[in-house]
Amino acid sequence: MKEIVLAKYGEIILKGGNRPKFERLLIDNIKDALKNVVRCRVTLTQATIYIEEFDEDKIDIIVDRLSKVFGIVSVTRAAVCEKNMDAIKETAREYLKDDLSAPATFKVEAKRSDKAFPLNSVQLCIELGGYLDDCFPNIQCDVHDPDITVMAEIREAGAYIYNRNKKIKGQGGMPIGSGSKAMLLLSGGIDSPVAGHMIAKRGVTVEAVNFFSFPYTSERAKEKVIELARIISCYTSKIRLYIVPFTDIQLAIREKCPEEHMTLIMRRFMMRISEKIARKAGAKALVTGESVGQVASQTLAALDVTNAVVDMPILQPLIGMDKIEVIKRAEEIGTYETSILPYEDCCTVFTPKHPTINPKRATIERTESVLDIDGLEAAALSGVEVIDIYPE
Ligand code: ATP
Ligand code: MG
Repeated sequence: MKEIVLAKYGEIILKGGNRPKFERLLIDNIKDALKNVVRCRVTLTQATIYIEEFDEDKIDIIVDRLSKVFGIVSVTRAAVCEKNMDAIKETAREYLKDDLSAPATFKVEAKRSDKAFPLNSVQLCIELGGYLDDCFPNIQCDVHDPDITVMAEIREAGAYIYNRNKKIKGQGGMPIGSGSKAMLLLSGGIDSPVAGHMIAKRGVTVEAVNFFSFPYTSERAKEKVIELARIISCYTSKIRLYIVPFTDIQLAIREKCPEEHMTLIMRRFMMRISEKIARKAGAKALVTGESVGQVASQTLAALDVTNAVVDMPILQPLIGMDKIEVIKRAEEIGTYETSILPYEDCCTVFTPKHPTINPKRATIERTESVLDIDGLEAAALSGVEVIDIYPE
């Protein structure tokens, strides 16, 4: 029996006259997500994407890849058959026999975009439903909340049969590439990978910068950040990672600035350097993983001091979320297990015992002014390592 994969898109439907542009982008992204794993044909009709003509054993990986492409809201496997009632009945009985053999409730729904098909949707449902009811004595019809929804779609190219209750939820959002570029400040923590995923979900191309304090943080910590970037790249198809040597800046701050200001001054350096990298890369915004009040450096006063050094939008998609909600997201997108690996981050190594929680811009500006800010930044920027990361 021939099987294909169907995917439906979501928000693109609201795009009016621009819809074809977004559809083309989505198709390109789907082809890109599949190009190294399978040869297949990708087409789009009426908000549905059809993946066909692939090796049978590749179907699971196709479903998995599509479920990570932004713009798609659902993915499902379906059997294809000829557009006549005998073929449709036989295919539904055979293809769905595992589902229909257990005691369960079911209903049949039909969509008929090929109006030349002799039965209308209601007639098709009645006929196919009656047939399946006879074939499988243990199933019972329930039109309100069935365990199994047998879908029969009659399209130009053939009839498609599947159990709609088994469709897999997609990522939603907008296709990558529809929303220019942003630079994510990616630590090894739980929050920033989630923040990056959320902004990428809106169609934004994401690149990432990580501040690295060798030898205070180990090679393993760097590998952890690269692995987090790789997991994000499964959704974005590629991610460019800039690794910035941060040790000299941290040592200079520790030597010359009050300990309680350490974190904030460090964060201001991160923001300034990230903005420079972002501008050079053509990014229009920074993305960070703060949520209000989570730690001392995330009070509103602290965020004011940190963000004041940057003259581009700073997107903080987690700003109103609880840690529990962020963890749930991290688990869903697959970054959590990597984020909790116990390698030191550059901030944790240099954390003050009693950080300021109600800082003023003027105070921090004064205490950091003893540093050669331009010189330290230039030195860090000259040592940046750039790595392009792809899904496995
Ligand atoms: P995360 O879980 O993302 O590390 P956090 O709760 O530990 O966040 P902070 O350490 O205060 O928060 O960092 C706030 C944000 O600053 C992070 O979400 C991230 O965007 C950025 N950031 C922190 N450390 C680094 C780093 N070493 N490299 C790049 N960005 C960083
Ligand atoms: Mg952190």
